Amino acid sequence: MLFTIDVPTREGFQILDITDEVQKKVWEGKLKHGIVVVFTKHTTTGLMINEPEEGLLQDFKSKMKELVPKGADYLHDRIDHNAHSHLRASLLLNSELVIPVDEGELLLGTWQRILFVELDGPRHRRVLVMLCPCQEYPEE
Ligand code: ZN
Repeated sequence: MLFTIDVPTREGFQILDITDEVQKKVWEGKLKHGIVVVFTKHTTTGLMINEPEEGLLQDFKSKMKELVPKGADYLHDRIDHNAHSHLRASLLLNSELVIPVDEGELLLGTWQRILFVELDGPRHRRVLVMLCPCQEYPEE
C-alpha cells in the first residue's frame, strides 16, 4: 500500500520531524507486521533517523555546511546554483529509510525520529510511504 505525505517547507535549509505523519499512514493502512519504506522524491532533500533536539539540529546543519560548503566553484552551479544541495543530499543523507513495524507501531528507539531534510527550499515536497506486510511472520 502506497501513501504520499505532503511536506511544505519554509526555509532554504530545514529539518522537519515527519514521524507522526508516517505513523498515521501505518495505522491508516492497517499494517500490523512488516516494514515501512519512506522515500523522498527529490534530488535536493534527504532523510535521516535521529534526535530532533534543537541544539543538535543546529549542529547537523552547521556540520553539513562545513563538509559541503555553498558556492565552491561547482559545475552544476552554472545551471541552477544549488550544487551544494544536491551534494549534501547524496553524500550526507539518504533518499530512503526502512523501518520495522510490529503490532502497528514503528519500532523506533526512544530518541529516534524520522527527519526530513530540506536542502533547497522553501518548496512543496512529497514523501512516499510504502507499507510492506511481512507474510511469514510467526503466529504467537
Ligand atoms: Zn540543481
